Amino acid sequence: QSVLKLQNVSIVFHHKHHLPQTLVHHLTLDIRAGETFALVGESGSGKSITALSVIGLLPPSMSVGGERLLFKETDLLQLTEKEHRRLRHKEIAFVFQDYRSSFTPFLTIGKQMVETIQTHLHVKRKIAKELALSALKRVGLPAERAFASYPFQLSGGQLQRAALATALMLRPSLLIADEPSTALDVLSAQHVLALLQKLKQETQCAVLLISHNLNDVLKWADRIGIMYGGMLVEQGDKDCIQHNPQHPYTQLLLQSKPSLSSPPKRLVTIPGEPGLVADQGCPFALRCPYAIDQCHTTPPVRTLIHDHHEASCHLFDVPLEKSTKQEKGLG
Ligand code: SF4
Ligand code: MG
Repeated sequence: QSVLKLQNVSIVFHHKHHLPQTLVHHLTLDIRAGETFALVGESGSGKSITALSVIGLLPPSMSVGGERLLFKETDLLQLTEKEHRRLRHKEIAFVFQDYRSSFTPFLTIGKQMVETIQTHLHVKRKIAKELALSALKRVGLPAERAFASYPFQLSGGQLQRAALATALMLRPSLLIADEPSTALDVLSAQHVLALLQKLKQETQCAVLLISHNLNDVLKWADRIGIMYGGMLVEQGDKDCIQHNPQHPYTQLLLQSKPSLSSPPKRLVTIPGEPGLVADQGCPFALRCPYAIDQCHTTPPVRTLIHDHHEASCHLFDVPLEKSTKQEKGLG
């Protein structure tokens, strides 16, 4: 069952004095209940603003458009701000890299959780408190103490766990986790990601996990999408991406993965500067070792490599849109 479905979604930045700039190009992906879809790319590749467009929190200088941006049956592109707000927290929850931003510093965690609950559910304070306490317990925190604490009284890892508890206490269908472990120490980071996995299994929600580090998400994702320069350059099951990467950028990302078992002799760095989002060609063209003339003039289109595994690169130029046989494979 599809929870989030993007079809040719684009996000545009409207400059005051320049022409508008497309930040995300024709993004197409589909996330189902109970699965973790990891969106991976370096900063500026468009992952976070894609997430913000789903939550309805894009800055006013940006606009989202395209064929469809479906959350279950609802087209998010058609929602008013008020309707979008009703979905946030209740149906679409989120945690960010900066765990401090999940709570205001001036109120206890408990008060903030109770407020969120009472905004969306018509329940008495006592019931809301019970809900909050059980959510805190589920993420392994000493519930009563965390409930009564101000944010500064908790460590980063504890605060991120409280943020997860808050995000999931209303049983949303979709959780967006934007770099949830990046600001934490290694141990807390692993705890938070393991916890995310456990909660996902318990609630069967869909998770959109955003990360700049492919290596970090290999363990937790069911499927992976690789973004570069505002384009989803490859997506597929975790195993396909890990063992059979097709796009030159994904291959480079995997080569630059430090190995834990044997210390790296030399880290492979990816040469060149991140390309601008290319309206006229492949955004990776300036750094790609295989680039041909066409790469600088024509944007590549999505091509099906194998079941549910697709890449956008002129090396595989059999456009998906034109091949009905391949289209069937996408489901
Ligand atoms: Fe490289 Fe061209 Fe493929 Fe882009 S389209 S990844 S530049 S070969
Ligand atoms: Mg980001």
